Amino acid sequence: MARYTPMIEQYLSIKNKNQDAFLFFRLGDFYELFFEDAEKASKILEITLTARDGGASEKIPMCGVPFHSASAYIEKLVAAGHKVAICEQVENPKQAKGVVRREVIRVITPGTVMEENMLLATENHFLTALYQEGSSYGIAAVDLSTGECFLSELHQTLPAVLDEIATFEPKELVVVHELATNSLLHDECKRLGIVVSEFDDIDTVSSLEEQFPNVHEVCNTSVLLGTLHYVYQYLLQTQKRSLGHLKRLRRYHAHSYMLLDEVARRNLELTRSLQNEKRTGSLLAHLDHTATAMGSRMLKQWLDKPLLSKKEIMHRQNIVSQFIDEMILLEELTDHLKRVYDLERLAARVSFGSASPRDLYQLRKSLEEIPTIKEKLASFSSDVLHRLADSLDPCQGVQALIASAIVDDPPISLKDGGVIREGYHEELDKLRHIQSNGKGWIAKLEEQERKRTGIKSLKVGYNRIFGYYLEITKSNLHLVPEEGYIRKQTLANAERFITADLKEQEQLILHANERSLELEMETLKQVRDTISNEVVRLQNLAAKIAEIDVLHAYATVSIRYQYTRPIITESDRFYVQKGRHPVVEAAQYETYVANDIHLDSDTRQVLMITGPNMAGKSTYMRQVALIAIMAQIGCFVPAEKAEVGLIDRIFTRIGASDDLAQGHSTFMVEMMETCEALQEATPKSLILLDEVGRGTSTYDGMALAHAIVEYVHEEVGAKTLFSTHYHELTKLESELPKLKNVHAKCVEKDGKVVFLHRIVPGGADRSYGIHVAELAGLPAPVIDRAKEILTHLEESNTSEVAVAKEEEPLTLFSFLPEVSPIEEEITKELRAWDLLEHTPMESLQFLQTLQQKLKSK
Ligand code: ADP
Repeated sequence: MARYTPMIEQYLSIKNKNQDAFLFFRLGDFYELFFEDAEKASKILEITLTARDGGASEKIPMCGVPFHSASAYIEKLVAAGHKVAICEQVENPKQAKGVVRREVIRVITPGTVMEENMLLATENHFLTALYQEGSSYGIAAVDLSTGECFLSELHQTLPAVLDEIATFEPKELVVVHELATNSLLHDECKRLGIVVSEFDDIDTVSSLEEQFPNVHEVCNTSVLLGTLHYVYQYLLQTQKRSLGHLKRLRRYHAHSYMLLDEVARRNLELTRSLQNEKRTGSLLAHLDHTATAMGSRMLKQWLDKPLLSKKEIMHRQNIVSQFIDEMILLEELTDHLKRVYDLERLAARVSFGSASPRDLYQLRKSLEEIPTIKEKLASFSSDVLHRLADSLDPCQGVQALIASAIVDDPPISLKDGGVIREGYHEELDKLRHIQSNGKGWIAKLEEQERKRTGIKSLKVGYNRIFGYYLEITKSNLHLVPEEGYIRKQTLANAERFITADLKEQEQLILHANERSLELEMETLKQVRDTISNEVVRLQNLAAKIAEIDVLHAYATVSIRYQYTRPIITESDRFYVQKGRHPVVEAAQYETYVANDIHLDSDTRQVLMITGPNMAGKSTYMRQVALIAIMAQIGCFVPAEKAEVGLIDRIFTRIGASDDLAQGHSTFMVEMMETCEALQEATPKSLILLDEVGRGTSTYDGMALAHAIVEYVHEEVGAKTLFSTHYHELTKLESELPKLKNVHAKCVEKDGKVVFLHRIVPGGADRSYGIHVAELAGLPAPVIDRAKEILTHLEESNTSEVAVAKEEEPLTLFSFLPEVSPIEEEITKELRAWDLLEHTPMESLQFLQTLQQKLKSK
C-alpha cells in the first residue's frame, strides 16, 4: 500500500487520539477536514466536498472552512451535538523543518462552550458528569462559562439520579463506558436532548488541591472526590489549559430542597411551557424581572431548588419586603443594576484568556456601578440591606487597572491596535509618537517637494507593495528633479517615485507600527493576567449582585401584580385566601377569578374536586402548587393572604402527557406517575392527581381512583388535590374524615353552561359534558340525541348517577369578607393602577378620589 504524505500521516495520528470529534486541521488560512470527517461535515455544514492528493493512490476526501469565519461552522456542529477538536500549527512555518508541528489546543464539546454567541445570556450552560462507586452515585454540573461547579452524592436508583441531572438542563453528560451503554440512560438522555460523552481516561494524576483550595471541605466523601476528579479530568483533557476561574465548588443535598421531579417541573410549567417547550409562558418567564443576566440565571437556579428552611425563606422575604416598602429607591436601584454587564461570564473569559478589549471595558463599566449600588442599598432603612451593601466588594483595583490601561470604548479586536490608553506604557507612547510624527513628516514632505519642484499636483501616497511614494502626473514629469528621485512604478497617467529620505522615514514608521501592535498585545495579556488573580473576588461580587437582582425581581413582580408576603410555618396547614394562578392571571388580568384553598392534616388532607371539563379544575390545582413554590423560593405570592406550611415535595399527575415515543400508553404513564407519588410522598408532600383513571374503562377507572384516594387518605397522609369527573367519588366524603368535596361551579343560563371558575364547597351535581360538546360545535342532532340518551340513563339507573348535593353556603371559608359593589369597583381600579407609571403626587390624588368615592356611598 502506498504511503501517505508526512502531513497526512500527522493528521491521522492526531485524529487517532480524537476519534469522537471533528478534527479542524489548520492549514494556512483554513481549517481542513479529511476522510470521513470531511464527508460528514460537508453535509452538516453544507459546504463543498473536494479531494486532495495525499500520497496514496486514491484521493482523500476533503472540505475546509476559512479560519476567520470558522466560529459559525464550529457553532453549527456543536449545536448539532458534535465535538470539534481545534488543531493549530504550533510553530512558525518559516522555521519548521519538515512538516509544521500541530497540536489540538482545545476540544469544544456541547457542554463546554465559552463563546459568547453560543451561549444564552439568561441561561446557564451546564456540562454534567455521572460517577458511580458501588450503589452510590455522584453528579457534577459545571458551567464553564461562569465557573460554577455543583456536586451532589445520591443513594438512589439510576432513574432518580437522571431526574436530578435533568434539573440542570445540561447539554452534555459525561459517563464511563459501562454507563454510556446503559439503555435506560441512553434513552433518557436522548429524550431530553442531552449528548452522552463516553470518557474512561481517568488515570492521569492531577492535583485537585491546587485547583480547588477548599476541595476537602466540600468533597468530604470518596464519591464526591471521585466525581470532582472525574469531571475535572474531562475538562482538562478537552480544554487543555488551566481553568483559573473554575473555583466555585458547591455541594448540595437534593433533600435539602423541595423535590420537583421532571414530571412535576414539566406539568407545572416552571421553566418551559408545555405548549412549545419555550421559556415564554412559564413561571420563570413570568417572574423574570431581573436586570442582569446573572440575576436571570440565578432566578432559574432558585426556582429549580425551592427552600425548605423557614429561616432562609424569611431572609429573602425580609429583603423583598424592604424593596417593596421603598419603591422609589427600588426603582433607582434597578437603573443601576441594569448597567451591570455579565460580570460572571466576563470574569470567566478573562481567566480563560479569551476576553476581548471590549469585555474588559464592560467589566470596568460594571465595576463603576458598584459604589452607587452600595450607596442605594445603604439608603434603605433596613439593617439587612445595610449589611448587604457592606458586603459588596467593588474590586476597585481591577476597575482602576482597566481604566488606566484600556481606552474608552475600545474596538472588539486588537488587530488594528488602539486599545491601550496613552500614558500607560512608556515605550508604546514613544512608538506612537514616532508614528504620528512620521505621518506629520510625510505631510510636510509633500508640501516641501511641491514648492521645490513647482508641481502643484504632487502627492504622497502609500500602498502595501511599494510603501510610501511620490506621485507625479505625466504632464509634470519634465519638472522632476534629476537627483534623488528614483522611479518605482508607472501608471497610465502618472509615475511614482521614492527618495532615500522617504524610505528612511518609512522604515521608522513601519517598525513603530509593528512593534506597537506587539506591545499592545503583550500589555493586554498582562492586564488580563493581573485581573485573573482577582477572579474569585469578581465571582463573589457577581454572585451577590445576582442575589440582589433576583430579590429585586421578586419585589418588582410583587408590586406589579399585588402579591402578598406568605406566612411560612412548619405546620401542616396550607391556607390561601383569594389565590390566583400567577401566569394565567397575568394573561387575563381583568377576568381572573381568585379562589381560596385550605388544606391541613386533620380534616382537609384530601380535596376531591369535581366539575365539568374546562371549569378550571387543573388551573386551580396548579395554582396551589405554584403558590407553594413561589413561597418557598422566597417570593411573595398571588393571593390576598397565605399561610404556607413547608412542602417537601410536589407530585403531579396532570393532563395527558402521552409518552408514546417511549412505547408507553397514556394510561401506563398515568399509573407510573401515580405510583411514584404513592410510594415516595410524605405527610409534608403535595400531590396533584388530575383525572386519574380516565385512561381506562369507566368501572376500572373509577375503582382505581377510589382505591387510590383511600390509600392516600389512610397510608400516605400527603396533602392531596384529586380532581375527577366521576361524581360517584364524592360520596367518599362521608366515609373518609380527612376528605372534603369541592367543585368548580357552573351555572346554566338560557340552556347553556357558564363556567364561573369558582371553587366552592360540595361535589358537582353533573358533568355538563354534553354542554361542553355543544360549545365545541358538535352538530345539533348529536347533542339532542345525547341529551335523550342521558335522560334515559338517569331514569333507568339512578344509582349510577351521583345524587346532587345541596350546595353549602360559602361560609365554610369564613375568613372571606362580604364585598359590596362599590368596594369591588374600587378594588378593580386599584388593581389597574400601575404605580410605576405614575408620580407619587398622581398616586396620592388617585387615592383621594377613591376615598371620596367610598365616603359618598
Ligand atoms: P379543567 O381542568 O376543569 O378542564 P382548566 O383548569 O383547564 O379546566 O381551565 C380551563 C380554562 O378556564 C383555562 O384555560 C383558563 O383560561 C380558564 N380558567 C381556569 N381557571 C380560571 C379562573 N380562576 N379564572 C378565570 N379563568 C379561568
